[in-house]
This record gives sequence, C-alpha cells and structure tokens, in this order.
Amino acid sequence: MAQLLFKDVNKVYPNGYHAVHDFNMEIKDGEFICLVGDSGCGKSTTLRMIAGLEDITSGEFYIDGKLANQMTSRERGIAMVFQSYALYPHLTVYENLAFGLMLEGIDADIIEEKVQATAKILGLTEYLERFPRNLSGGQCQRVAVGRALIRKVDIFLMDEPLSNLDAKQRVTMRSEIKQIHRSVGATTIYVTHDQTEAMTMSDRIVVMKSGGYVKQIGTPYELYFYPKNLFVAGFIGEPPMNFLRGKVQGGKFTVEEAGISFDIKPIIDDAAAIEGKDVVFAFRPEAIKVAKGGKAGKDEYLVKSEVELTELLGDTTNVYAKVGGVNTILKVNPHDTPERGSTFSFGVPYKAAYLFDAETEEVIPSSIERN
Ligand code: ADP
Repeated sequence: MAQLLFKDVNKVYPNGYHAVHDFNMEIKDGEFICLVGDSGCGKSTTLRMIAGLEDITSGEFYIDGKLANQMTSRERGIAMVFQSYALYPHLTVYENLAFGLMLEGIDADIIEEKVQATAKILGLTEYLERFPRNLSGGQCQRVAVGRALIRKVDIFLMDEPLSNLDAKQRVTMRSEIKQIHRSVGATTIYVTHDQTEAMTMSDRIVVMKSGGYVKQIGTPYELYFYPKNLFVAGFIGEPPMNFLRGKVQGGKFTVEEAGISFDIKPIIDDAAAIEGKDVVFAFRPEAIKVAKGGKAGKDEYLVKSEVELTELLGDTTNVYAKVGGVNTILKVNPHDTPERGSTFSFGVPYKAAYLFDAETEEVIPSSIERN
C-alpha cells in the first residue's frame, strides 16, 4: 500500500511553459483522489510526474516516505489506465490481460489464476476469448482497467478513463471503478474534467485552474459547501452557483441597478472590515425558497427576478431568470414553476448565502454554520 507526499512540486516544460505550480499534498494510503479542472490546467502533467513519465522540475515527491523523484516507473509500483484503452487488437481479452505477466515470465498456471480472478472482479469471464473489436466501449475500458489491476500494484493512476464512453456507460463504470477501488484498496489518482465524476467518486478532490494552480483540496462535501474562492464555487456544482456583483455600503450588500440592499451582518463576522469593498454575493440554485406573496421567510434575503425560460426536468424545474440584468439559474419544485416573462420573487436563506471578495476572489469568512 502507498502513501504519497508532494512538497512544492513544479513542472516547467523544456519550452519554458510552467505547467504545474507548487503542488503540495499528502495522499493517504488507499485514498481515491480526483484531479479536476478544465482542459490544460496541468492534471495529466501531475499524473505523469507521479508515474515517472515526466521529470519533476523542482520540489520533492515521496512514496511511503522515500524520495521518488528519480525512481523509475517500475520502482514506483504503479499501474496506469489511459483514456484510449490501448488494447492489443490482435489479442483476445484473456491475452490482453495476461500480456504483462507473460513478459515478466510468470508461470502459466499462476497467470491463469490471476486472469480468472481479475475477469471475475470486472465481470469479463464470459468475454475472455473475444477480441477487442467485438466488445462495447465499456467492456474495452474494463479490460484496460483489468490489465492495470492484474499487476497488484499499490498505486493506480487513471487519466480520463471514461471519456470515450457514452453517458449511460460512464455512470455504470463510475460505480464499478469505485467498487473495484473498495475491494482492491490501492491508492488511486484519477484525472477528469468532469466535476460530477469527481464529486461522485472521490474521497478528496484537487481543483486545479489553468496555469497549473491548485485552488482547493477537500472532500466533495467541503468543496460544495465551503468553497474557498470564486473559482471553486463556480466550478463545483451543476447548474453552477449564482453570483451577484455589488458593493458593501453602510453594512449592506448593494446592487443599485437591481434594487438590492441586504444587511450583511447576519451572515458575516465582521461587516465593518469589508465596508466599501467590491464583493460577490452568491447562492446555489437549489438553496432558494419561493417567496409566497412576494415576501421572503424569516432569515432570508428577498430577491426579485424576471423569468426568461423554464426547463422541467421531472423532479425539479430549472428557472433561468435575470436579477438586475444578471443571469441566474434557480431550481424550484415543478409545481411552483413560474410563468415565462413573470416576476419571480425568492428568498435566499442566510445560511445558504456566501460573500466573496471581488478583488482577491477569496471567500469572506462567515459566522454561519451551513449544515
Ligand atoms: P490537462 O491534463 O489538465 O488537460 P496537461 O497537463 O496535459 O493539462 O497540460 C498542461 C499544460 O501544459 C497545457 O497548456 C499543455 O499545452 C502544456 N504541455 C503539456 N505537455 C507539454 C510539453 N511536452 N511541452 C510543453 N507544454 C506542454
């Protein structure tokens, strides 16, 4: 089993591009970690440094307390699954699974045992004699995972392994990979640009931003309810968090053109400290309460919006509405769906409201408990 430690790890490519900045993290033995962020933010570079496929430019990387910067991939005890399954097309599923072990000169009967055990975990037993061309995308990906799994390594690395699958297969494979992780227990680092994948699979998530910066590391719960900055607040959650830009004037969050003037003392420890600052008032689409009769409930801010579009999803309706010219998305019970073109009034509970410093983009510490 393996515990990983990164100390100020940086990657500068030979062309001078600084792809990863000061990556610091301790990963516990057996943890499932997702690196998530938009394309080009440095996720694969980080993964490839862990794998030993890319040099670490500066900083230290330890596996189980041993400095690993100079270790070969083999010495690190890792297995990697890529986006393209990279199966051998002319070999059967059995041979694809057995290939690595055969190269290592392992006895045929031990290989047979391992292939059968791995195939069982992945539900591939009845496909062992098939060729990759006769498998679905999901089955191919399972074989690719199996090839990594069969090597009994301590560290599992996966780079967007589900992105070639259709939406339904992705959901199925997501839970399969989680179950495999639970039964195998290897420390797993999983790269994805899909925040839903990260939220559903991870013990902890590393949110990265273009330029190779880590914006926050935390459990899915922490990232969702306690985002440290606007980037994480906007990245995690679908539909995304709503942001209203304004100013703190006389202890009130004010957006003049939207007629908004909210007393912020109920949600902020030290309102005086941010007097005069440009701030962002934020709330999640599902946190709102319909303001019956145009009145907000106790401990809620009243917001008025103009409805542009509604989308009935079945269990909920997404309402696209403008608040003082700003686009927002609100989730309501389908039975409360407002008319297009109407004014829709809603309450934002104090405990669901966030304030961010517009300049630093960091969250302003709040006194409100959110659970
Ligand atoms: P992600 O996996 O998050 O999409 P990558 O880690 O692949 O991002 O890439 C991060 C950044 O580094 C990108 O801007 C990419 O263009 C750049 N990059 C990747 N490989 C190289 C390389 N060999 N030389 C120079 N720049 C690179």
